[in-house]
Amino acid sequence: MNKIKNINSRWFIFVLIMILSFGFITTSMLSYLATKNYVIHSAVNQTLPLISDNIYSEIKKELLDPINVSSLMANDAFLIDWVESGENKLDSIKEYLSRIKSKYGYTSTFFVSDVSSNYYYSEGILKQVSEDDDHDVWYYDFKTTDQAVDLDVDNDEARQGILTVFINHRLESKTGKYLGATGVGLELIDIGEKFNTYQEQYKHEIYLVDENGFIQIHSNPTLIDTVNLMTREGISEYADDLLTPSDNIHIFEFIEGGELKAISIRYIPEFNWYLVIEKNQTESLLEARKSLWENIGIGLLVTIIITFLMIVIFKLYNHKMEQLATFDELTKLYNRRFFMQIISREIAIAQRYNHSLSLLMLDIDNFKEVNEKYGHMVGDEMLYMVSSMIKATVRNTDIVARWGGEEFVVLLMHTDIDEAIRTANRIRIAVAGKTLYTGHDEVFRTVSAGVATLDDDTNSEERLMKNADEALFRAKSKGKNRTAK
Ligand code: GH3
Ligand code: MG
Ligand code: MG
Repeated sequence: MNKIKNINSRWFIFVLIMILSFGFITTSMLSYLATKNYVIHSAVNQTLPLISDNIYSEIKKELLDPINVSSLMANDAFLIDWVESGENKLDSIKEYLSRIKSKYGYTSTFFVSDVSSNYYYSEGILKQVSEDDDHDVWYYDFKTTDQAVDLDVDNDEARQGILTVFINHRLESKTGKYLGATGVGLELIDIGEKFNTYQEQYKHEIYLVDENGFIQIHSNPTLIDTVNLMTREGISEYADDLLTPSDNIHIFEFIEGGELKAISIRYIPEFNWYLVIEKNQTESLLEARKSLWENIGIGLLVTIIITFLMIVIFKLYNHKMEQLATFDELTKLYNRRFFMQIISREIAIAQRYNHSLSLLMLDIDNFKEVNEKYGHMVGDEMLYMVSSMIKATVRNTDIVARWGGEEFVVLLMHTDIDEAIRTANRIRIAVAGKTLYTGHDEVFRTVSAGVATLDDDTNSEERLMKNADEALFRAKSKGKNRTAK
């Protein structure tokens, strides 16, 4: 009986664990897939365009000022006149360049004359530019383009070769003749730091590349002019399209080194450079995957806790069931069902070993009156009191059970008929001498007892019970509060 119950509860717990685990794992997986989908789609559809717009305007703000100053210099009548009148008075160009430098706080200002090939800076003449000097390639490149402005990252020879962003502006005479290049230089480290803050703020990699794809501005200066966007795995195949000046912003995903990345490339016409924003999607997915494992972990923990609780509940339930199957709730004595299990076994043992065994059947006299006079509650208390007294009077090894209503049975092992009668009388006297206080009255009852013992005739539980019952009837007939055999 118990075994079957346990097997059932084991199955139940197994099914419960399966349902809970399945539930947790599927919901976690579904939410992971949703996040994954969102991460991938939102990068291309929302995040990248948004960040690109923000950074685009921030960078323009940052670099447009120096572009405007360069343009101001290129349109300055003093500078044009000074070149056209033969570049005399070195002091006046020195003073002009250092005034602009300190006024706007740039790291350098310069003018390279196409007439004299002199490179002027705030301290005077730095050098003569020459087509043979590698350092001066920028100048001749710029001269041949017809762009008004060009940005160029280079070592500043006037400042111990520090990496500098130069903004070169064309200087022309009133008649349109090319006179040289003027402009300002900004320290790259400052701009790099700016990019660093953007990156931290937007959690994306942000940098600028030139028209050939070489990185020009990056928070990591070692990448400048060394890494080319167009040769990277997954990008090279689009290369033709990407670096063409247009208003379009290119946003796409590519796989590099087995990792999924999203990138946005956008032309900045003022600089002729491209703003690149990229994000490693695999990293974002790693976070989603981490939370997937966390969810599953929490789910399993909850499953374990629920399982544990279920096992405890089952144990309590089984215990309760056993209690109900064995004991009488009101009197805490064994119940009739359990008594019937025991009596047949004890009879078999007594017969096998030739022991004596007797049975008492007890019934409270005129018990109905207690209920009628004082109510059921008092009746119940009386039942409990009598039960306790029977239990207290017999040996620990004797079996006391509630037979039903106000009737009790006591199985006395190793006890012959005379000893059993003595025991019945002890109970009878004890009960008669005990009163129950109801709050107003002292109530007491007596009991009648029928005794039967195991012998050659009375050799089964049915006969033993029947004899005890008949003896009890005799005790009642003879006037109650007595023992009969
Ligand atoms: P007698 O001396 O002939 O045994 O008379 P009696 O009144 O004791 O016997 P009877 O069989 O007429 O009545 C027994 C009463 O016991 C009837 C029933 O209401 C009451 N009874 C049975 N079980 C319970 C119980 O669990 N609680 C209470 N309060 N009363 C009970
Ligand atoms: Mg009675
Ligand atoms: Mg009765």
